[in-house]
Amino acid sequence: MHNPQYHPDMLLPDSPLQPLLQSTLTHALTYLSPANETSVAATASLQSLRQRLDLPLADDGLPAPQVIDDLVAAVAGGLHKITGGRFYGWVNGGSLPAALAADWLTSAWDQNASLYTVGPAASVVEEVVGAWLKDLLHLPATASFALVTGCQMSHVTCLLAARHSVLARAGWDVEQDGLQGAPRIRILTSSERHGSTVRAIRILGLGEKSIVDLPTDPQGRLLADTLEQHLATEPNTPTIVVLQAGDLNIGAYDDFETLIPIAHRYNAWVHIDGAFGLWAAATPTHRHLMRGAAKADSWATDGHKWLNVPYDCGYAFVADPASHRAALTLQAAYITHDTDARDPIDWNPEWSRRARGFATYAALRQLGRTGVASLIDRCCEHAHALVTRIGNLPGAQVLWEPQINQGLLRFLDPRPNATEADHDAHTIAIIVAIQASGEAFFTGTTWRGRRAMRVSVCNWQTSIADVDRIVQCVAEVLKTNNTQT
Ligand SMILES: *Cc1c(COP(=O)(O)O)cnc(C)c1O
Repeated sequence: MHNPQYHPDMLLPDSPLQPLLQSTLTHALTYLSPANETSVAATASLQSLRQRLDLPLADDGLPAPQVIDDLVAAVAGGLHKITGGRFYGWVNGGSLPAALAADWLTSAWDQNASLYTVGPAASVVEEVVGAWLKDLLHLPATASFALVTGCQMSHVTCLLAARHSVLARAGWDVEQDGLQGAPRIRILTSSERHGSTVRAIRILGLGEKSIVDLPTDPQGRLLADTLEQHLATEPNTPTIVVLQAGDLNIGAYDDFETLIPIAHRYNAWVHIDGAFGLWAAATPTHRHLMRGAAKADSWATDGHKWLNVPYDCGYAFVADPASHRAALTLQAAYITHDTDARDPIDWNPEWSRRARGFATYAALRQLGRTGVASLIDRCCEHAHALVTRIGNLPGAQVLWEPQINQGLLRFLDPRPNATEADHDAHTIAIIVAIQASGEAFFTGTTWRGRRAMRVSVCNWQTSIADVDRIVQCVAEVLKTNNTQT
């Protein structure tokens, strides 16, 4: 079976694209080669990157191969090696081989995934991917979904549906009448929520002041009594409760089984931020953390973090497709809806858009169900090993031992009488020194008032050999820095 429109014989040696794409392939393979032992952290300064890149906009264009060669030369040292196994900064995943390749083809095919009639295969692939993801993440099969740019836009998409629903219940049609004069909406969430939920709420026109941050227990979980008290004080205010599946510092999971029924008793909409944490549902080892989460009203997660799909890829899921569709669908005279097909424009905030379903489709086919589970488990094991083994080194302290793939370390200033502020400064200095070694990349955070080094493992490539190598590297950095001070 072959497609007559698409056959390898068509890649004629005299195709004008041949030299360009061939040399681009070489650039990519050189960068991604395990033999590429350049620093994990970018080494080029802001000034040198500007010097190399900020050229006068030319009147005349250049041959494409030269443009690419120049680009590769100009960004040298300005790329963090996120693709390898020793990058643990923020929560940044790698790119699985099949996902990377499908992402290249997405650009080559250049489909516009707005409607089935505009991008037929792209639309069907999204339909399939949506069903696979719900299955894998143990979400209701009846939920609607959208493939968006990231978790940020997933929040926007889900909360648009939430806004529609809570205002409709209050007798208000937000799509027609907007927010001017609408009943006030309040957002109850935890102090550990991610900034992207705040931004989504701003984008939605609800304003940051509609957010009420509630305290958490020592495990970072929203307190049920406090939530119920707040719900009970204003039982008639349209309310959205934003819960957390994996917070950015310690990977904390709210107690969904307890909290969601309470919120629903007060007619609140429950949204879950699971940018990376939703993936715990994909493995039997960690699925218990997600117990009760399937009862929520919407869920936001990423493909470009733990699934290791290239940027930009997030997923939004909504339990009530009618609210989701009502918030986003658009019928215009010149767009042709195929009644049988799924049109992304009905579920997505964008109009023309990248056919980003292909990369997810490829990632899920490369891994399969057990491959996804093993990717998640492996990252958790490596995060645990990194935190506990580094934590055992002299001068290091474990602040949070990972329950999933996130942990926290602190480095103590060895001077007698060192204060907490000294330990903060020392922790920052150690993070900088590790980055300067070129061996690994970690980022810092302030957690419960103290500076800490975050350890986040979400790359398919990280191996035990990487963990050994990083523990060794941190041991040496600590030895040097603790004798200098
Ligand atoms: C990364 C992250 C987000 C934002 O996701 P993007 O994909 O960067 O838009 C939201 N919530 C949490 C917990 C995150 O870790």
